[in-house]
Amino acid sequence: MQVRIAFAVDVDPDYTVEEGGRRKTKGKTRLSFVHTKKGLAWLLEFLREERVPATFFFEARTAKKLSRDFNLRAIAKKYEIGCHGYEHEDLTALSEKEKRKVVMKARKTVASLFGTTPAGWSSPYWKSDSSTRRILRDCGFKYEANVCGETEETAEGFVLLRTPKKCALWALMEGKRGAKEHAALLKGDAVIATHSWHTDYGESGKAKDSAERRMRLREIVRLLKSGGARFVTVGELAKGFKGLAR
Ligand SMILES: [Zn+2]
Repeated sequence: MQVRIAFAVDVDPDYTVEEGGRRKTKGKTRLSFVHTKKGLAWLLEFLREERVPATFFFEARTAKKLSRDFNLRAIAKKYEIGCHGYEHEDLTALSEKEKRKVVMKARKTVASLFGTTPAGWSSPYWKSDSSTRRILRDCGFKYEANVCGETEETAEGFVLLRTPKKCALWALMEGKRGAKEHAALLKGDAVIATHSWHTDYGESGKAKDSAERRMRLREIVRLLKSGGARFVTVGELAKGFKGLAR
């Protein structure tokens, strides 16, 4: 059976970390959007060249920032658009009421900026729980991607696409794993996920190796394509997804 691979990109501020309850860009005193902007521009060109469909999960705040530099509606015509929080919230740390507020605000903002209603959600920090999922479903989302953990139940009609942490593209983008090695981890339908900024800089905080990061990403996409995998959006993968979804 042909393996289906969905390429997912979380579009959020440059390397977001939480420190003392404050969100900031790693190594900086506040958030920066420089690398996410450059990375997104490169990714759009890369996907066009490789003829690969993709899903962009936008953090609503980042989408607002980038709306000055990108034609978001044109992006939504070519790619699937999903949500990645309003301000990169750790939803598991919020009350039900707060969660609902964040989910609704994020959905509304992304829908109005892109002119399309998002069906998918990717949780910031890969942190999610069953109440978040119920709220997502109530608010009209059809699936959640980039979830790790084993025990949550999934409400009827709502698809949960779990990705083992080791299958995230982090190690590949950081040069800690080769493309061949990573491709070998993908045994069936899978989401391969990265961040927009990670194609421009990484954990070291240096932008100088962006060419190598980009080469690695191109290498794995080409390797999967030549191995017979079919690239789809995460939304397409969620339809009829068997195995990890329950
Ligand atoms: Zn994120």
